[in-house]
Amino acid sequence: MTSRCTPSSWQNLGVTGRPRSAIAKLPAYVPGRSTAAAEADHGITDAIKLASNEAPYGPLPSVAGAISSGMEHVNLYADHGAAALRHDLATHLGVDLDQVTVGAGSAGVLQQILLAYAERGDEVAMCWPSFEAYPVFAMLVEAEQVRVPLRDETFDLAALAAAVTPATKVVFITNPNNPTGTVVGTDEIATLLDTVPDTCLVVLDEAYNEFVTDHRVTDSTALLPRHSNLVITRTFSKAHGLAGLRVGYAIGHSDVIAMIDRTLVPFAVNELAQRAARASLGAIDEMRQRVDQVVAERERLHRELVAAGWTTPDPQANFIWFPVGDIAVALAAELERDGVVTRAFPDVGVRVTVADADRNDRFLAALAAAMDRLGLSPR
Ligand SMILES: *Cc1c(COP(=O)(O)O)cnc(C)c1O
Repeated sequence: MTSRCTPSSWQNLGVTGRPRSAIAKLPAYVPGRSTAAAEADHGITDAIKLASNEAPYGPLPSVAGAISSGMEHVNLYADHGAAALRHDLATHLGVDLDQVTVGAGSAGVLQQILLAYAERGDEVAMCWPSFEAYPVFAMLVEAEQVRVPLRDETFDLAALAAAVTPATKVVFITNPNNPTGTVVGTDEIATLLDTVPDTCLVVLDEAYNEFVTDHRVTDSTALLPRHSNLVITRTFSKAHGLAGLRVGYAIGHSDVIAMIDRTLVPFAVNELAQRAARASLGAIDEMRQRVDQVVAERERLHRELVAAGWTTPDPQANFIWFPVGDIAVALAAELERDGVVTRAFPDVGVRVTVADADRNDRFLAALAAAMDRLGLSPR
């Protein structure tokens, strides 16, 4: 006999197929604008994209080789459990095999964490502004967002800890933060962990960890043995330059990792991604050289900007944050007229990815020209 689980209420949203009300209300994730869109809008050529914190280089030769070698296997499903990659990650990180798992980018892993741990009636706490995917994922599971303002463009961990209630299931710490590029010390994170109950996960999003030079930030995996509710997420997208392949990972207590695994879309991390990620772990020195170049360019850009009269927070990731407030959209639009695509956060600021020297020089020239046309001086 047919049986039915009837939902408690049908909502007529006047749309075909009656989507969940949480989804009907959900704002679409807005990716950084493409160079093609900028070129079409302004009738220009050779626009550059500094909008999505991507690496300025193509894959390392050994990684490109690994991707090519995977081609002949794409008729097959990849290993859903990514056993070889997890093994390599566990060795690389010095943790047990069951303390690490992979997903479709760390954004995929973050979505999995909320699917596994939060639902209607729960709270998800974060500082704001931060990574724009967190609110989308919270809304997806119908959890309530608690947004604590940044202090001096930086995560305010004391205020964040104070915002935790018995209903809080997940707290996000983004270190360095996106879009501001600022860091908190690992000591401060340890202090927060001491006050947050084990019933609440603390998700430490370290998408830009490899770019950090501030000595207050130390290896966060050292916090794991004392805190079973800590989950660290990292990615191959930024420092490893594999954004288009979609592979990221989580490190945490084996029980938490097992729950995250339950929400992975079957075969979400494909064969090319798994091979490229393993090859990247085998080329850490070359990856570091590239990261060092980006960091050197970041420091140069920051020095030149300060000399030009700009006040930007100390950049610790692969981008620079301009907290320009109400001129954010206008400034990004002016930069785009000169073919430099950046990311505007309306009424808050503009985020600009650090690329190679040539593209960074183009950005500096476009910035000076844009401020000229706006009739404004650096702020
Ligand atoms: C880019 C980014 C990510 C996710 O990147 P993936 O490509 O999904 O690994 C996660 N968190 C922050 C803060 C980011 O900026």
